[in-house]
Amino acid sequence: MKRREFVGAGLALAASAPLRGWSAILKDVGDVAAKSLDGAALTLSGSSVEAFAASLRGDLLLQGSADYDARRRVWNGLFDRKPALIACCTGTADVRHAVDFAREHRLLTAVRSGGHSISGKSTCNGGLVIDLQSMQGVRVEPELSRAFVEAGSLLGQLDHESATFGLATTAGIVSHTGAAGLTLGGGFGRLGRRFGLACDNALAFDIVTADGHFLRATEEQNADLLWGLRGGGGNFGVVTAIEYRVHRMDPVILGGYLMWPIEKARDVMRFHRDALANWPEELWVELALVWEKDVPMAAFEVCWSGERTAGEEILKSLRAVAKPAYDNVAPIRYVDMQASLDESLANGKYYYMKNGFLNQLSDDGIDRILDVFQRDPGLFVLFLDPADGAYHRVAADATAFPNRGATYWLGLEGKFPQREGAEAKIEKIRVAWKELEPLVQGFYTNLADADEPLSAYRENYGANLERLIALKSKYDPNNLFRLNANVPPEA
Ligand SMILES: Cc1cc2nc3c(=O)[nH]c(=O)nc-3n(C[C@H](O)[C@H](O)[C@H](O)COP(=O)(O)OP(=O)(O)OC[C@H]3O[C@@H](n4cnc5c(N)ncnc54)[C@H](O)[C@@H]3O)c2cc1C
Repeated sequence: MKRREFVGAGLALAASAPLRGWSAILKDVGDVAAKSLDGAALTLSGSSVEAFAASLRGDLLLQGSADYDARRRVWNGLFDRKPALIACCTGTADVRHAVDFAREHRLLTAVRSGGHSISGKSTCNGGLVIDLQSMQGVRVEPELSRAFVEAGSLLGQLDHESATFGLATTAGIVSHTGAAGLTLGGGFGRLGRRFGLACDNALAFDIVTADGHFLRATEEQNADLLWGLRGGGGNFGVVTAIEYRVHRMDPVILGGYLMWPIEKARDVMRFHRDALANWPEELWVELALVWEKDVPMAAFEVCWSGERTAGEEILKSLRAVAKPAYDNVAPIRYVDMQASLDESLANGKYYYMKNGFLNQLSDDGIDRILDVFQRDPGLFVLFLDPADGAYHRVAADATAFPNRGATYWLGLEGKFPQREGAEAKIEKIRVAWKELEPLVQGFYTNLADADEPLSAYRENYGANLERLIALKSKYDPNNLFRLNANVPPEA
């Protein structure tokens, strides 16, 4: 690369410079080394990169740009990747230019909204990151019960704007997660038993497809695409906005944590399993096995979003399983509950996860889970989230999301203080998972780890695979968007 010069807009705009926003002008860029779609080395001429930069209202960042390092970081610190270019898009126009540039150069392309991909799929080495972090904004129309969400928005923004009108919809359990990635892959959350997956509530998507065209996908327009975007991940293009159905709900819920010593875990788990099917859908209770320092504990994370008196009654039954060692379940703002895990799952730490769906939980299964969990103190936390209720009311072929009908969603989550030594711990988690794997059927693509081969995704899409392949062939025939739960098009 020859030389790069960044001139702040307004300081030294040449008379001939295109009209721009606040982005820096990129001049005298030498050739840029990059990676093609299939991973081969390729060279982007400086003039093509400059022209690309000039077409954007947002910044185009290269290695050495002031914000490059901050911008390339993703939630999982294990993926310390260095893209050749980061296009910081400010709107649909920038996204179209970025998609055109990627397609014309056959450039390896990642799409980033909240950056919370467990497997680091929203970044890459040597490719282009289409970065939507600047595209944030949520507008709620209470009379229509709709939330209009720009694709770079985080879940906390959706929850916050909805709550002010006494509205809510299913969103994930950590408020700094991106709305787009979560919704495209499904979207479980504390309200999911009541309102369904986030993608079930997504009524419309705005999207730029691989050919650079802008489409709106609704039940009336491009309905095939709407089907695929509800669970088919980032396979079909770059989503720029999502319209959600939001539901009336008291912004104050009953929520918090109940914890018991591990000796009570078997009773706690059996109780959860036996009670789940009869619980009202306003009740969401995550069953977790955690380490408090080096002490193993069983926990319920509780969210009751229904009428208060009925909730207090149900809570009595949870507390009666055994006397909790810790209990902070009380009225709490839903938005605060949604942020309660934000710090413990902070950005930039080192994480590894395994997950799968359970159709049933036998006594033997419970014993096996307890045994595997306690074997290696502090190695991982384990959670069993309900996957029933409203999730089941949508037919398995009504959306691309394939994993309907399970009772639980089981996850192991390892968090490591530093990169050094993480690989050895990851290997131990893989071994532990081998023992639990026979209990599960399929996995949640949004929490899949980087080990999953393409064939596992294909198998996981099950009966929806053929339709997904047809859609992929229609909207992204060259598999420009492949850093995702990928469905390659027909050959
Ligand atoms: C701390 C944490 C908590 C989580 N909790 C939950 C939970 O409660 N429930 C749940 O269901 N999941 C949960 N997840 C998983 C989550 O759904 C995925 O990690 C999801 O991909 C995050 O979306 P994002 O926009 O932040 O991701 P990104 O890393 O930005 O994107 C992930 C992938 O999604 C696709 N994508 C993202 N944005 C777009 C777009 N605009 N257009 C096209 N494709 C796009 C791309 O393929 C990209 O590689 C959690 C993850 C983390 C890290």
